[in-house]
Amino acid sequence: MSTSNPAHEPDDYVRIFDTTLRDGEQSPGATMNLEEKVTIARQLERLNVDIIEAGFAASSPGDLESVRRVAETVTTPVVLSLARTTESDVEQALRAVEKAAHPGIHIFIATSDIHLKYKLQMNREDVLNAATVAVATAKKHLDHIEFSCEDASRSDWDYMVSVLTEVVRAGARILNIPDTTGHAIPEEYGRMFAYLREHVPGSDRVTWSAHCHNDLGLAVANSLSAIKNGVRQVECTINGIGERAGNTSMEEVVMALRTRKDLFGIESRVNTPQIYPASRLLSQIIGQAVPANKPIVGDNAFAHEAGIHQHGVLMHKLTYEIMKPQDIGIPSNKLVLGKHSGRHAFVDRLQHLGVDPQTVDVKKAFAEFKALCDKKKVVYDDDILVLITEEARRSADHFELVELEVNSSTKSTPHAMVTMRVGGVEKSAEGTGDGMVDACYKAISKIAELAPALERYSVKAITGGTDALGEVSCLVRHDGVTVAGQGAHSDIVMASALAMINALNRLHARGNALRQRLDEGP
Ligand SMILES: [Zn+2]
Repeated sequence: MSTSNPAHEPDDYVRIFDTTLRDGEQSPGATMNLEEKVTIARQLERLNVDIIEAGFAASSPGDLESVRRVAETVTTPVVLSLARTTESDVEQALRAVEKAAHPGIHIFIATSDIHLKYKLQMNREDVLNAATVAVATAKKHLDHIEFSCEDASRSDWDYMVSVLTEVVRAGARILNIPDTTGHAIPEEYGRMFAYLREHVPGSDRVTWSAHCHNDLGLAVANSLSAIKNGVRQVECTINGIGERAGNTSMEEVVMALRTRKDLFGIESRVNTPQIYPASRLLSQIIGQAVPANKPIVGDNAFAHEAGIHQHGVLMHKLTYEIMKPQDIGIPSNKLVLGKHSGRHAFVDRLQHLGVDPQTVDVKKAFAEFKALCDKKKVVYDDDILVLITEEARRSADHFELVELEVNSSTKSTPHAMVTMRVGGVEKSAEGTGDGMVDACYKAISKIAELAPALERYSVKAITGGTDALGEVSCLVRHDGVTVAGQGAHSDIVMASALAMINALNRLHARGNALRQRLDEGP
């Protein structure tokens, strides 16, 4: 372990532990493939988060592989894997982060009586022993060891003191006290940290961490209350995605600390202009739109700006604005490129949007950009981000669209002719349906020999005008597994086909990984 890593410097700041790729990915329909996870990890590095929880290595071979890839990709943040206290979990988590510049492990076990009795079927002494042994085992291999009392907010405080005392003795460096069920209230959650910090010997030598869920809409408030009570690490996700109502929203905590520095006197080290690109990137990858009224990153979060500009009353800005849109990377000029823009301008724009040109096939992306310029008069930042994510989405696919032809008129039944490559082999099929999209989905189902139930289908125009790039999101269910698919194209039927094929690829990837979620984690 290098001492130069920000997570290990003694100075006082709030570490940002991002769990978008682990807890965040557990939100329904937010499954990401390997390439998408690597894309997000790169963006997290640009954001300058301190720690990336890249997955839960023991939960599936796919998870192990993605932790490994993230560990090999980023260099600044600590990369860690979640693990239960079993020997094989710890072993797999350690193996997954072997090649990380700054490896870490996050070991958890439940401490609430209700979890002990119904989930673990273990008594308090067994749990204490399991936790201590797991931490001691990991300590032989690395130093960045985080320990979590799952369901802490419903656990007996004094029992947690005994467990935490032992794991600190065994070598844990970070103590995470999660509100797993989203049950805590800010004042109470803060008080729990004050109590634990007072009673665990050596508590001033470890970093205390908050991990909250938003079931009562209090995840950010609880995390801030924890910071007021000595917590120096917050676990959070981009856009607040996560189990049920979600996790603590990274952008909200970061900007609350920054905006109210007068009150907290402490900040994170997040590179805030990368917040907006991160939010858009994740939203496009998982196909979940950010609600317009979402603080910090929602479309309306700074909407008063536009109105004021229209009226030219600049003085009002000072009256209403507590944050500047530029501070979080909202582009001030969304209209950027067109038909006559060169490759240099394109690469320049990519960098401005937080995309590292080294990580994309620039030649291919530029060719796609030019093709888009032929279809549209102006290409917006959002269009470009879609091009890039669309590329990440399509890499290493089992199912690929080759050709699509649809016919529809007021007199005839809509008809589609689809050609796809399945594992490299070209196949064609026809379909008829209630509309062109339906006909096209029937043909795709025939070729893929998979007929998942379509649970949700939505179309969104990414930018204005009838020539806008349309993005289709669908949610499909097959054999008890729900996955989301996205596709973007200036033709809506094409975008729909790409979205369905993207979903089928995710189903295929899930099948390969034989993914079984053995445990949910903190
Ligand atoms: Zn959680």
